[in-house]
Parts: sequence; structure tokens; C-alpha cells
Amino acid sequence: MTTDIEHLAHADAHPTGRMDEIVSLCKRRGFVFQSSEIYGGVQSVYDYGPLGVELKNNLRDAWWRAMVREHEEIVGVDAGILMHPEVWVTSGHVSTFSDPLVECQNCHRRFRADEFPELEAGGDGDASKAQCPVCGVKGQFTDPRQFNLMFKTYMGPVEDEGAVTYLRPETAQGAYVNFKNVLDSTRVKVPFGIAQVGKAFRNEITPGNFIFRTREFEQMEMQYFVEPGTDEAWFETWRERRRAWLTGIGLRGPRLRVHEHPEDKLAHYAKRAIDFEYLFPHGWAELEGVHNRTDYDLSRHQEASGKKMEYVDASTNTRFVPYVIETAIGLNRLLLAVLADAYHEEEVEGETRTVLRLHPSLAPTSVAVFPLVKKDGMPEMAERIAADLRRVLPVFYDESGSIGRRYRRQDEAGTPFCVTVDGQSIDDGTVTVRDRDTLEQDRVPARALRTILAERLAGPDA
Ligand code: ATP
Repeated sequence: MTTDIEHLAHADAHPTGRMDEIVSLCKRRGFVFQSSEIYGGVQSVYDYGPLGVELKNNLRDAWWRAMVREHEEIVGVDAGILMHPEVWVTSGHVSTFSDPLVECQNCHRRFRADEFPELEAGGDGDASKAQCPVCGVKGQFTDPRQFNLMFKTYMGPVEDEGAVTYLRPETAQGAYVNFKNVLDSTRVKVPFGIAQVGKAFRNEITPGNFIFRTREFEQMEMQYFVEPGTDEAWFETWRERRRAWLTGIGLRGPRLRVHEHPEDKLAHYAKRAIDFEYLFPHGWAELEGVHNRTDYDLSRHQEASGKKMEYVDASTNTRFVPYVIETAIGLNRLLLAVLADAYHEEEVEGETRTVLRLHPSLAPTSVAVFPLVKKDGMPEMAERIAADLRRVLPVFYDESGSIGRRYRRQDEAGTPFCVTVDGQSIDDGTVTVRDRDTLEQDRVPARALRTILAERLAGPDA
């Protein structure tokens, strides 16, 4: 339930793409494929195709640039997916990282109990009214039982209890266990941050909505270590910085809102938490969280490992265990939001065109280069231009089919600029540059293309 909706006023005129349209575009154009499709697919696991991997890389790079490169006091780590199993006992994940699971005794499908208000623990709902969304039978759910979301596996050749370890369910712990290493090996001073991007795994009871909720996903998290007492102000700062970044990469403001977690729903480690929710094709849902995790994780690791997790402030000669403000976003979920936001269908000259209005710096291909026709020296000149641009930009060269169809294919891929070599190009060395969004074409000297495109492709300024 949303308690604090900072709903940014007026609705945006253009809706996002529908989920079926996005899924279909993703497959048709090579953004996202179902995993192991030739074997019938694996439920809720997805593979990223040629365009998808580029878009994902560009989003990850944009995040890293904004969170690490542009901050003197934020550094990165890349911790292992497998960690010491004690980490997950200490963090509380072994005992509490679970969802309540119910099973329909008629069709034997399983669900999260919290998806049914009638089954809410302590609520006044009537369990006999809870209806199975698959078979429609009412009142046949089992009592909820806690289901741990961590994937268990074994380290080494012997599959016994002593060899149990877990695939990490969040990247944050990799930053906490390296807190001392980072302090001792760099010159950072509180306040400072540790950022990390990497895979996380959760055995979700009900994954779904395409790449929104999957069992394997990638997180981009940053842990900002601050002096206790300054945590509330830093929380506000990071919330505003993250909002600016999300809109800076192109997400439309009216499609973002803030949900404040009520105190009784806070995670065991949190003093305060907000979600940035995005209006996904399936409705409002969490995109990114900003959390005040207090000194919970560092203190627990200090206690369990016996290693000091204190920071010594040399200027005041004080020691303290820092508080942590965390920003946490799923890369795959962000990619879905960005695709949904960018997806447009519109009428152009009596035809419907599908266009992805991606921020130019995020587009998988920056520029497509075409000869107008396959003769009169045009392919040779276009190939020379493509080869030159390829040294600095992702370029796609295409000479087959009508020019109109080639433009439409690039619109669907979100390519912001198409350069065309025509008859005049051979005479005077100029080419046309077509803008994906305005459909305007201007004529520029081919030798100035690198400079002109670099200007037009300038990155998000968040
Ligand atoms: P949710 O309430 O959606 O389960 P959460 O509150 O458990 O998410 P966090 O633990 O705060 O999520 O993780 C940070 C971010 O990681 C989320 O905001 C989301 O973008 C992403 N994320 C979490 N679980 C998944 C998942 N199963 N699939 C894809 N992304 C996920």
C-alpha cells in the first residue's frame, strides 16, 4: 500500500508500451529471449540478445559513471557471488529472508500469501474467500509457511550440511565484508561509498511480468557510510540524487513516485526506507530502494567475525561504527522501465511506426549508415564513413531493402541517428543525418560527422 505518494502531478499524455508489445519487440529485434527456448524454455529466466546486451551495458555504465566516477569519495568493488556461509547467518538472511508461501490444495499451485489480503497475518480477512487465481477455487489455501528465498548449494565435492553455501541474494554484503579492506587500501574518509554491480539470486515464489521479477538478476547497489547523526540528512540527499538520475536517463517524471515504507513494514535492519516506484506496463511497482540500514550490518559482522568495523576519525579522535545509506536498483528491472518508457507507436505518412525513444547515449546503436542505393559509388563511400565512425561509436551498416524500411528498423531499435549517402554525397562530400524523434534530415559535410554526432549524443547530465 502506498502511504506517501509524491505523485508528480499531471499525467503524461503518452502511455508506456503494453507488456505484450514490449515482449514481442524484444524477441523480434534481439533485446531479450526466453532462456533455453529450444528446450521449451525455463520459466522466468531470460537471455539478453545483441541489442539487449548493449542496452544493459550502457545502463550499467551510466550508473557507474554517475555513482563512482563522478564522486571522489565513492569506490567500487566486485565481490564473489559465493561468500562464506556465515555472512548470511550474520546478516539475518538465513533466519529471516523469507516470504510466506501458500499452496492451493485444488490445483497445487503456490503463491505468496501476501498477494491475498484475506490471508494477511493478523488481518481480519476471511480465508475462505481467498480465491486461487489459476483454478478459481476459493478457500483451499494451506496455512502460510515461511519459505527462504536463498538458493542453497554445496561448496566442494561432498554434499553435506558443512558444505552448504548460498548464491548471494543481494550484493550489499560484499561491500560490508570489504569495508575494512577498502578503508585500509584507499584514502577514503567518512562519508564515503562502496558501489557494486553484480548478479543476485532469489528463489522467488511468484516470478513474472517478463524481466520485472526473475530468480537471477543483476543489482546496482551503493552503500554510503556516514557518521551516526548525519544519516537522516544523507538519506534525503541520496533520495534526491537518485530521483535526478532516474529522470536524467529519460524516465518520465509523472511515471515515478515515492512510496515510504510504514514503520511496521520495515526490514529488520532498516530505520527508514523508500521505494521509487515506476508505472510499469503491469502497474505501479518498485524500481529502486533507498534505505537507512543504520549500523546493523557492520555491527553484526563485527560481533560475529571478531574484527573491528570501526572508523577512526583522526581529526576529532573519535571512533564509531558508521551508519549506512543504501541505494539499490535492479538493472534488468531498470531496462524494462526504460524500454516501456521509450516505446511509442505513431502514425507517419499513413503508416504506423514503432519507435524506441531511448536517451541517445543509452541506445544500443548510436548511428546507422546507409547508401541510398547499391550503386554509383554510394556503398563504397558509406562503408568508408561507417568504418571511420566505428572507431568511436557503435555503428550499424545496412545496404539492403528500401531506405524507408531501413529507417523503420532503426526506429524500432532506438537508433537515434541515420546517416545516408546519396547522389549529392558523391558530388560534394555531404550526407544527410536523420533524427529518429523529429524525423528531420539535415545535410552536413561527411568529414564533420564525428564532431556533430558526438555533440548530439551527449550523455545524461544527472
Ligand atoms: P521486491 O519488493 O520487488 O521483491 P525488494 O524490496 O525485495 O523487491 P531489494 O531487496 O530492495 O528489493 O532489492 C533492490 C532492487 O533489486 C529492487 O528495487 C529491484 O529493482 C531489484 N530486484 C529485487 N528482486 C528482484 C527480482 N526478483 N528480479 C529482478 N529485480 C529484482
